[in-house]
Amino acid sequence: MTDSKYVYSFGGGSAEGRSDMKNLLGGKGANLAEMANLGIPVPAGYTLTTEVCTYFYDHDETYPESLQAEADEALAKVEEIMGTRFGDPDDPLLLSVRSGARSSMPGMMETVLNVGLCSATIPGLIKKTGNPRFVYDAYRRLIMMYSDVVMEKAAGVEPAEGQGIRQQLDRMLEEVKESEGYASDADISADDLKSLAESFKAKIKEVLGKDFPDDPHEQLWGGVGAVFSSWNGKRAVSYRRIEGIPDDWGTAVNVQAMVFGNMGDDSATGVAFTRNPATGDNRFYGEWLPNAQGEDVVAGIRTPNPLNEDTKNEQNEHLPSLQVAMPEVYEQLFAIRNQLEEHYTDMQDIEFTIQDGRLWMLQTRVGKRTGTAALNMAMDMLADGLIDSRTAVRRLKPEQLDELLHPIVDPAAEKTADLIAKGLPAGPGGASGQIVFSADDAVQWVKSGKTVLLVREETNPEDVEGMRAAVGILTGRGGMTSHAALVARGWGKCCIVGAGALDIDVVGKTISVDGKVFNEGDVLTLNGTRGLVYSGELDMVDATENPRFVDFMKLADELRVLKVRTNAETPDDAAIAIEFGAEGIGLFRTEHMFYGTGSEEPLFILRKMIMSGSEEARRAALDELYPFVKRDMKATLEIMGDRPVTFRLLDPPLHEFVPQSADERRELAEALRVSVEDLDRRADELHELNPMMGHRGVRLGVTFPEISEMQFRAILEAAAELRQKGKACFPEIMVPVTCAKAELDDQLKLAKAVHAEVCEKYGVDEVEHLYGTMIEIPRAALTADEIAKSTQFFSFGTNDLTQMTFGFSRDDIGGFLPDYLDKKILPVDPFQVLDRDSVGVLVQTGIEKGRSTRPNLKVGICGEHGGEPNSVEFCHLVGMDYVSCSPYRVPIARLAAAHAQINHPRD
Ligand code: PEP
Ligand code: MG
Repeated sequence: MTDSKYVYSFGGGSAEGRSDMKNLLGGKGANLAEMANLGIPVPAGYTLTTEVCTYFYDHDETYPESLQAEADEALAKVEEIMGTRFGDPDDPLLLSVRSGARSSMPGMMETVLNVGLCSATIPGLIKKTGNPRFVYDAYRRLIMMYSDVVMEKAAGVEPAEGQGIRQQLDRMLEEVKESEGYASDADISADDLKSLAESFKAKIKEVLGKDFPDDPHEQLWGGVGAVFSSWNGKRAVSYRRIEGIPDDWGTAVNVQAMVFGNMGDDSATGVAFTRNPATGDNRFYGEWLPNAQGEDVVAGIRTPNPLNEDTKNEQNEHLPSLQVAMPEVYEQLFAIRNQLEEHYTDMQDIEFTIQDGRLWMLQTRVGKRTGTAALNMAMDMLADGLIDSRTAVRRLKPEQLDELLHPIVDPAAEKTADLIAKGLPAGPGGASGQIVFSADDAVQWVKSGKTVLLVREETNPEDVEGMRAAVGILTGRGGMTSHAALVARGWGKCCIVGAGALDIDVVGKTISVDGKVFNEGDVLTLNGTRGLVYSGELDMVDATENPRFVDFMKLADELRVLKVRTNAETPDDAAIAIEFGAEGIGLFRTEHMFYGTGSEEPLFILRKMIMSGSEEARRAALDELYPFVKRDMKATLEIMGDRPVTFRLLDPPLHEFVPQSADERRELAEALRVSVEDLDRRADELHELNPMMGHRGVRLGVTFPEISEMQFRAILEAAAELRQKGKACFPEIMVPVTCAKAELDDQLKLAKAVHAEVCEKYGVDEVEHLYGTMIEIPRAALTADEIAKSTQFFSFGTNDLTQMTFGFSRDDIGGFLPDYLDKKILPVDPFQVLDRDSVGVLVQTGIEKGRSTRPNLKVGICGEHGGEPNSVEFCHLVGMDYVSCSPYRVPIARLAAAHAQINHPRD
């Protein structure tokens, strides 16, 4: 540890760090260094590495011994470059202290600005700037931020609701504005700000029992400690959970010379994207505010001005653009935009400040974007030769496709809908829900099964959990670059900000607009793609087919080796899955044809079959059922054409299909010509204590061979009839819940006998098909070498395999899994993300053993994991032939398979 370098300097045209040092310097620090190296103007500064953060937490919140000396040396460099000294009474250098993790966590950690202002430095700065108002405004901001971040939050003080020091100081500020009749913060006089600063300090002493520090170095180290502490603040922790960012990464801290966007009319601050982050449009896009500090833009308190003329929208078209207000600075910024895009070959999210007409870049990072924007940018950059096709394919995360295929508000319904307000389209798609006014309420309502829209006055990163829970977010103030808009966009969540016409009262829980009042629980609809707010619930439709999406998916398909099938059991689902690119059906759950619309008649017959007391009665019911089963199988085979279809034999525990109501039982008893008492007795016999491990899957076929025979016949006759008509079809028969080779031999004997009969009936030598099994019991995986001798393919049923490996009931995990996740006993839900350490080992063992006795064994997966990107990567790594997932997840699996091949090439 002793020879570690803990501090990296940047500024003055060079830097000690680089953009590829994000793990050590955090994203912000690494990119500030890179910009300095590129000759882009950044205020000089230094980065305390993430290793300092790790040390801080490992050593009782203390620092490495060598840190102080390294930091002092770095500060001296900053002083030299900037030509001012920290704490100098005549010409003081002021500093900002900001967080910067490896992966961006917008607004989730703390910042302290204007560090270094104190009784000794204030007069000098006033003299230098000739602007006492500016100096006292900077001072009161420092006091507000510092007391909140360092003296309260980092000190672990937990104030009562509404009694946080920041809120108390905010109220004092409001009181001054009210009593003096000031319309906005900008109107407050220097004298008022000066006396406000004094009253603030007195209040801090009263509430927190400590003096506000008047020593610049104490302020600096207080700020540094508070930023490190904010790594473990509530909202940072929540955000990491949601985004899957490991806790042990830690944050870096960036200490940087302050530049001021609030020095007067020649000063400004702004946030921009090198392309439009919502649509991907190749136009420089951003927001700025004259005479303001950066926090004013990102906190979403004022609706900012547009950056340039051609990206104005309805909400800001009356406001001046930077392009017109400061044309020279705009040109310089535009050139930096081009330089950054060319250098990083990706869309950048940048922050800048203009002090007295001079441009400073404060940040650049890869910008968060909607799925649509990611797609459009990737395809544009590919066409422009900026990136190659592999890079283009990597630019879209598989999960983002979910959002591209997201429902949007039905345009037909919108025509007649009641439009109540317009705002900025910050996050895509449509969403309807009941309105709630706090993040906590959003979380609670969603827990109780409701669908909610979170409505807030302004965007605030504290709301992160509520934003996550809600289907959409609506705010009255704020711009496209406010933190909440960034976060929502990153998640592909429907979001509208800055709907200024709405009078939102979060305490009274009402929205008032044009004489109408909407209360908590009322339903609104958001069109996040256009920024439109409607009253009531509107229909949603699927996003229209996007030709670029098709081209993009072609690129992904060219790269991947893993095939993607779908889990579907109706011709309609099969057709949807083909549209999404499914290359076959990996799981046709036969019992699903007895659920849902149109299933009443076959379900009744199935129940007759189940309740039959004798083989004869059962066979009679099966004969009746046969045409329905064959009809559905044949239609599905036909629609899939030359794509394989895996039919899984009936799997559910039989008692699931026993009718529960007295009327249904009476009707069934009549049809079976037995008494209701007999029927009840049979139902009792079928009752199982642990049905998930009961009479299901292959066990049914072992005790009632006629049930398997009927299904073999349906599959093989359906195929024979299609073939007779010259149609291609490839059925695969799959036996579920097996644990031993002998079970498969038992069923194979039946299948062979039926096959011979079918061949004879249709006058053919063979009805081509495969015979295989699911591997969903640990014993099956462990004896896969034996099992493979009797089957041509394996399909891993990782739902049951996870259930049996963990011993967690699939149907009952709701009772305890949330606690396991909260307490970090498990990192993720293993039913969603395949657990490589346990289930994964069984899968890998199963494949290796299976292929040891049957080298050409075909292997796939059909558990829910087949559509989850991390699990798809695993399937690729262990050499599966295909994954199978629900139709809507097929594109996600295709892209995940392409990413897997790019990252881990295999033959
Ligand atoms: C499985 O267990 O993973 C599987 C696909 O089968 P089911 O979900 O129908 O039990
Ligand atoms: Mg199963």
